[in-house]
Formats: sequence, structure tokens, C-alpha cells
Amino acid sequence: MNSAEHEKILSRARAAFLGLALGDALGATTEFMTATEIRHQYRLHKNIIGGGWLGIKPGQVTDDTEMSLALAHAVVTAGSWNLVRIADHFVAWMRSKPIDIGATVRKGIRAYLHKGVLEMPPNEWDAGNGAAMRMCPVALVSYGGRELLKRYTIEQAHLTHHHPLSDAGCLCIGNMLHVAMAGGDRFALHELTRQLVEQHPNFRFNNYNGQASGYIVDTLRTVFHFLFTTADFEECLVGVVNQGGDADTTGAIAGMIAGALYGEEGLPRHWLKKLNRTVRTDIEQLTPQLLALAPAFNQT
Ligand code: MN
Ligand code: MN
Repeated sequence: MNSAEHEKILSRARAAFLGLALGDALGATTEFMTATEIRHQYRLHKNIIGGGWLGIKPGQVTDDTEMSLALAHAVVTAGSWNLVRIADHFVAWMRSKPIDIGATVRKGIRAYLHKGVLEMPPNEWDAGNGAAMRMCPVALVSYGGRELLKRYTIEQAHLTHHHPLSDAGCLCIGNMLHVAMAGGDRFALHELTRQLVEQHPNFRFNNYNGQASGYIVDTLRTVFHFLFTTADFEECLVGVVNQGGDADTTGAIAGMIAGALYGEEGLPRHWLKKLNRTVRTDIEQLTPQLLALAPAFNQT
């Protein structure tokens, strides 16, 4: 791979990670609201203004970005994929008293903390989007390795969520990130969603019903609907977060995929300016470090 090509992939990877944080910061304002409530209060929510039920500062992020950063830090400091290190970083994060933490995530981290459990047993109630929101760093560190992506995805997901729909959704996001980072277009991404729908028809989104809950099926249908009916990063993210529901997480997942697809030039300047400085610096430092560990760049 020549250096121009390397630069392009690095840039799209950075856009994916920054996109995740932007979607989280934007969507936290409308999390748990209905689309109608959002319309009455904001007409259209399209600026990073903080607030929401968590009362965050403009540009502050929540568990979606924080857990992704914890996972990224774990892998980078370990120097390779290391599930125990990831679990340890999740424990440290939970102990830092985060402003929000999902019930399934808390249960999984506690099972590791108290019993050393690295894989939760299958559970029909674990089909939330909490494992999917952490997929960006997983895709980065496995870039160039399809089988690695699969292994890392399932391992990190099962720390907290063990459910076939979560697994399938996580893997689809990871594959979409790989394809978009390699320069794939929206048609290539659509093909991956088609394969997901073929395996799990629940994910069909051409009859999108507006449900944007934390259930992985609702979450991904929302993300896919807006990804494929809009023309740029900003329009996609605004569509997603104005749907309400689990808006910070639908925003985070749409942000990582649309970020990789449209690249850094597609990230709205006025949003980036608002994003918490430390978060932005962390992401910009961790992205090349994660990619350096990926099979595409780590050939010895
Ligand atoms: Mn959150
Ligand atoms: Mn959320």
C-alpha cells in the first residue's frame, strides 16, 4: 500500500471515530424524546447544544463514545487485541461514575468484576444496541482482516450482550466500516445491509416505521433508513437524532458509518468546533495507533 492510500484510509477511519462522537453529542439532546416532542421543542434539532435528560454541556459525549474510547485505550496500551484488558478498562470506566450506563452493560461488567466472566451467557433480553455502539475501534484494529473482525466483534460484544441479533448487527456495522474505509460507496454498504436482512428479516428497513429504540433492530433500521435516504453526513445525522428514542446511540452508530462513507470533509465544521477538546484529541491520537495494529498495516 502506498502512502497516499494509507492517508485516505487513516482519514476515513478518523472520520468514523469523530463521527461517532459527533452523533453521540448531537443525539444526547433528544435521547428518550419522541419525534413529536422534538418538533415542538426545537422544530429541527441540528446543533450541538447539550442539555437533554442528562443535562450535558455542549460537545460533551456519553457512554457510547466513552466505552469506545475505553476499548481503544485498552487495545493500544496492550499493544494488541486483549479481552481482559478491555474488560479491565470497562471496569475502570464504570468506577469513574459515568453519566450514563446501560443496564445490560452494567450487568456484564459486574459479572467480570465479581466472577471474572468474559462471556455472558445467551440472553433473550440482551438484544440492546450497547455492543454495537462500541464497534468503531473494533473495525479499526481489525482493518484488513475479515476473520479477525468477526472474532473481535463477538468477543467484545459478549462481554455484555450475548444475543444473535446483537451479534449480527455488530458484525454488519463492522463490515460496513471496513468497506467504507476502503473507499466503498453507498451501494456497497447497501449490499451489506441486504445480506443482514436476508439472514435476519427483522432488520428490513424499506418499510421503516419510525421506531428508534435501544433494541438493536429498531436502532439499525433507523440508522439504515436515514443513511440511504440522505445525501451527506449532516443530513443523515439530523434525520436520525430527530427521530428521538435512543438518539445518542442511533446518532453514534450513524455517525461512525456516515463518517467512514463521506470522510473528514463531510464532518460539519460547526459541530467539530463544539466537540469536547479532550475527546477530539483522544480520538485523533488513538485512530492511527489502532490502525497501526491492524493486519492491513501490521505486516511483518
Ligand atoms: Mn449514551
Ligand atoms: Mn443511548
